[in-house]
Order: sequence, then structure tokens, then C-alpha cells
Amino acid sequence: SKILFDGQIIDRDNLVDIEDRGYQFGDGVYEVIGVYEGRPFMMDEHLHRLKRSAGEIQLNLPFSLEEFRRQLNQLVKANHLDEGIIYLQVTRGAASRWHEFPGRGVRPKVTAYTRAEERMTQVEDQGGHAVLTEDIRWLRCDIKTLNLLPNVLAKQKAVENGAVEAILHRGDTVTEASASNVFIVKNGELFTHPANNYILNGITRQKVLEICRKINIPVHEQTYTVDELLAADEVFVTATKSDIIPILEVDGNQIGSGKPGATTGQILKQFRSLIHELVHT
Ligand code: PLP
Repeated sequence: SKILFDGQIIDRDNLVDIEDRGYQFGDGVYEVIGVYEGRPFMMDEHLHRLKRSAGEIQLNLPFSLEEFRRQLNQLVKANHLDEGIIYLQVTRGAASRWHEFPGRGVRPKVTAYTRAEERMTQVEDQGGHAVLTEDIRWLRCDIKTLNLLPNVLAKQKAVENGAVEAILHRGDTVTEASASNVFIVKNGELFTHPANNYILNGITRQKVLEICRKINIPVHEQTYTVDELLAADEVFVTATKSDIIPILEVDGNQIGSGKPGATTGQILKQFRSLIHELVHT
């Protein structure tokens, strides 16, 4: 398949410099953009978040967002991608290995590739289980950086326990999950952790909040505890491409009726109609 490398669409090859700062320090930022029937979903929102993440680590993007958009659309076409994702990352570039930023002559490295991936409608409809694990990440989880080791360890624990996600908590407070945001429904109202330094403000999360305002589901961007999570009527997680997944059990504790909830179902239906609109306009 083809990849995007420094602004050019080329064949995939082993092109990473062993002293690339992404490779050695995780010194870079990334985005994952969903593609539905050949159409990238909410690409502008993802690119704006990339720009923000880059700014927070003092990395100047080497292309305008306009130019990124053009190149990524070209990549999707070159790979004839129908269903899947675009992975885009920008590292601080390759330079002799010293912790401090390299000199001005070192250009950030932009790479992107696509991966074909079926839609996850089955797990979105049927739901899955989650495990709980302590959130051991740093205090800038709002930046989408390449440093994902705590997320990797958390997701591994989920998979080893037959769960779809690991829900993270800092002490008593639920923050998010290893690769998704967490919502609970109590008495018809929605709660999710506020978008601050403790979570990544998911693009899917933001869309879900917008949907709730539109269909008059009260939303509270407010913290809640592990006990409140376990006592919720419904729990769901949101992320790019897996959209909305109902969580039916957390660490062996059944949530609500143990079936995907009505409020979650309503939101999922609205979310799918947004995708349908994208694909058919
Ligand atoms: N939280 C974390 C830690 C993530 O890695 C992700 C990305 O998949 C999300 C939340 C969800 O963000 P988005 O909806 O933008 O994919």
C-alpha cells in the first residue's frame, strides 16, 4: 500500500530513521481519523486537535491544515480505502539523540498510512465488558502524544480478561478508558469527565455531547466516582471508528439491566445517521 511521507505519496518501506525522536522518545503527536465508505469523518476536527497537540509540545506543523487535508484525501484515494482509518503522526524529526529539542534545521517528520477495518456494528449493537485499572498516566492527557505505554498496559489487561476496554480511574475518579472516553447514564441524564488535562477530549465525545443537546438529553461534564460508575443505569465508551460501545459489565459487576440501554441506543442511532449523511452527500 501507499503511505504519506514528507508530503509525498510513496510505497510503504522501512524509512524510519533510528534516531527519529518519535521512535526514541515518543516525541510527537498523532491522530486517527475514521473513513466510512471512502469518506473521512470529521477530518477538520481531527486536524484542529492535531494542531493543538503540536502547539502544546512546541512543535510547528510543517504543513497548513489545508495542505494536510489535501494530502490525506489523496492518500485515501491512492489506497482505494473504503472502510477503515487514517493514521497520521508528526514527530519532532531525526537528530542526534539528546533530550532537548534539536536545532532549527531539523524538520518535523510527517507520516500517514491507511488501514482497512470493518465497521464494528456488532459490538456497537451488542456491547461488551470492561475492566477497571488505575490511571497511571502523566498530567497532560489532553495532548494526543505518541507516549501510550500506560494505555497499552491497560488495554492488554482488558484483552487478557476478555473485555473490550479498560476504564481508568485516578483514585476514586473515573477519567476515561485506555483508548476511548467513558459516559454514564443515571436517571436519563448523561455524565462524562470534563475536558481538562486528565482526559483526551475525544472527537467522538464532542459529537455525542452535541447530539445530546440536540435531542434534549441532559448532559453534565462532571466527574463521577467508580461507585457511581458501577451504580449507573448505562455505561458506554466512545472512540473513532468504534463509535459508541455499550458496556454491560465492569470488573464482573453488571451495569443496569446488563443489556445495551435505551439512552445509549438513541445516541448511537443519531450518530449513525450523521455517518449516513456524510456518506450520502
Ligand atoms: N481517550 C483516549 C486515551 C484515546 O486514545 C482516544 C482515541 O482513540 C479517545 C479518548 C477517543 O478519541 P476520539 O473520539 O477522538 O477517537
